[in-house]
Amino acid sequence: MSVKPSVAANPAASYDVVVVGAGFAGMYMLHRLRGQGMTARVYEQGSGVGGTWYWNRYPGARCDVESMQYSYSFSEDLQQQWNWSERYAPQPEILQYANHVADRFELRSDIQFDTRVERAVFDETARLWSVSTSDGKVVTAKHVVLATGCLSNARMPDIKGLDRFKGNVYHTGHWPHEAVDFTGQRVGVIGTGSSAIQSVPVIAEQASQLTVFQRTANFSIPARNAPLTDEEREKFRANYPEIRRFAREEARNGIYTELPDRGALDDGDNERRSKYEARWNRGGLTFMSVYNNLALDKAANDTAADFVRAKIAEIVRDPETARLLQPDNHPIGSKRICIDTDYFATFNRPNVTLVDIRSNPIEEITESAVRTAAKDYQVDALVLATGFDAMTGSVAKIDIHGRGGQTLNQKWAAGPRTYLGLMSSGFPNLFIVTGPGSPSVLSNMIVSIEQHVDWIADCMAYMRDHGLETMEAAVDAEDKWVAHVNEVAYTTLYPQANSWYMGANVPGKPRIFMPYIGGVGPYRQICNEVAAKGYEGFVMGQAEQPRKVAAS
Ligand code: FAD
Ligand code: NAP
Repeated sequence: MSVKPSVAANPAASYDVVVVGAGFAGMYMLHRLRGQGMTARVYEQGSGVGGTWYWNRYPGARCDVESMQYSYSFSEDLQQQWNWSERYAPQPEILQYANHVADRFELRSDIQFDTRVERAVFDETARLWSVSTSDGKVVTAKHVVLATGCLSNARMPDIKGLDRFKGNVYHTGHWPHEAVDFTGQRVGVIGTGSSAIQSVPVIAEQASQLTVFQRTANFSIPARNAPLTDEEREKFRANYPEIRRFAREEARNGIYTELPDRGALDDGDNERRSKYEARWNRGGLTFMSVYNNLALDKAANDTAADFVRAKIAEIVRDPETARLLQPDNHPIGSKRICIDTDYFATFNRPNVTLVDIRSNPIEEITESAVRTAAKDYQVDALVLATGFDAMTGSVAKIDIHGRGGQTLNQKWAAGPRTYLGLMSSGFPNLFIVTGPGSPSVLSNMIVSIEQHVDWIADCMAYMRDHGLETMEAAVDAEDKWVAHVNEVAYTTLYPQANSWYMGANVPGKPRIFMPYIGGVGPYRQICNEVAAKGYEGFVMGQAEQPRKVAAS
């Protein structure tokens, strides 16, 4: 006779919160939850912490927001003690920082690595989420937090014959852990976004021949990366309170810099050119902050775009290659601007060739070559710098069932719908960190991650203290927010680009401008006001026997 294991003999583990992902978002979420006495389990499909910085190990990978700002602010000791080596730290150092944070705050004991969350089902009677993982287990949790990342679902291009290629194929977003040496090899790089722009100059130094396949040229600004001096670090540290406050409250993109008070057309040609020149020489993302209307007014934007196009023509010696490298089909900044070290100059090397696959598309990959209508390009290795199914890709891979059995994928079939990018109606107690509808990828993401995690943790504490069992976005609040996100986006030039912000890089994905462009400062204020009004726009479900509100 077979004996059925009783539920009591094999109880499913139960937590206050299941967190999916152990990048910067999941790690800080765990730290905050522990701090308020909640039990949490983090699941991470990778074998270590760090998310983006765990997966993207391609040559040349580094941050594009300066490290003194692209770092956690929640611990004063941490920000005073960690020594960033360079203005833009390389990937191994950012990963080392993530590991340091995991050790310092003893996070690992609540993180289960090498485990994917496959499915999450909301039980409306028990008011609990039932979460299934790739190790065959099911656990329950009151809340689920998706800290799954906006750029974590690397996209393989749909190019015929890729599986036939005999050499090694690498995706920048899934780079091997062991060192890859291209010395003496003919390498092909497909794509010319940020990942390619960072890796091409480094690969060019190793490869015997590097062929870069470009469909769309991109704007890129020199990083002017350099080692950080003790004085520079100290200056930041001494001013951290103001720098962090400014980044959170005043900067639209979460980066401390001067705010422009003039439009590009308010200055004459010479003055404008000298301002662009100064920012070009300073380097970095703040090139787009020279004037206050570069994202709004096409004529203003053209002045900045023309300046960068002229720089490309100055740097690149072959006029035809220079012409191909000059972006001409989208306003500057309407795709995340790239930050490089010697990208354009790399095309002056005798071992580097640019191939325009806009006019001559790739037809297929053969066993040893990339074939266009015009020619076969023989390569020994292929680097796919083809990007991500961004913002919704990793969420869509989880089979999430909310009220009435509706799946999140069904609900988001025509594009993601959220209130504040934090929750989606019909999916109670399911939170998203930097979800679609929040500033997320338009910002210094650590600023946005910390703001979301703090808001979510405060909200869970509020629910506990007020005996609330469930919380979800109200349909009308969500509808208004989705309309607002869309409306604000269309006051800018951003929707004019076929970018991953619009889902345009994934065939069949709905074209919706996904991030909220209103700025991190105003957005934070909206979130704070919503919370101050008892979570206005959210529907709260009372427990049958409310717990006492903690005395303050
Ligand atoms: P991630 O770091 O993406 O972590 C999410 C984690 O969730 C991943 O480890 C993933 O494996 C895990 N996961 C997903 N689904 C599941 C599942 N179902 N089960 C279990 N685990 C799951 N932003 C900036 O602001 N400045 C920069 O300089 C910058 N540089 C970047 C460079 C690169 C190459 C890329 C790709 C992105 C960059 N970004 C940058 C954006 C970057 O993604 C964020 O800054 C930040 O690291 C995101 O942290 P996160 O924790 O939200 O997500
Ligand atoms: P990306 O910006 O989406 O660029 C992908 C590139 O691949 C584009 O040039 C695209 O061309 C090309 N491509 C895609 N599919 C193709 C196909 N089938 N055939 C030919 N070409 C194809 O991706 P990414 O460079 O990985 O960057 C994504 C984001 O990650 C960035 O925008 C940034 O936010 C972040 N990131 C930041 C840094 C940093 O500097 N710190 C570095 C890397 C990434 P089209 O444009 O024509 O589609």
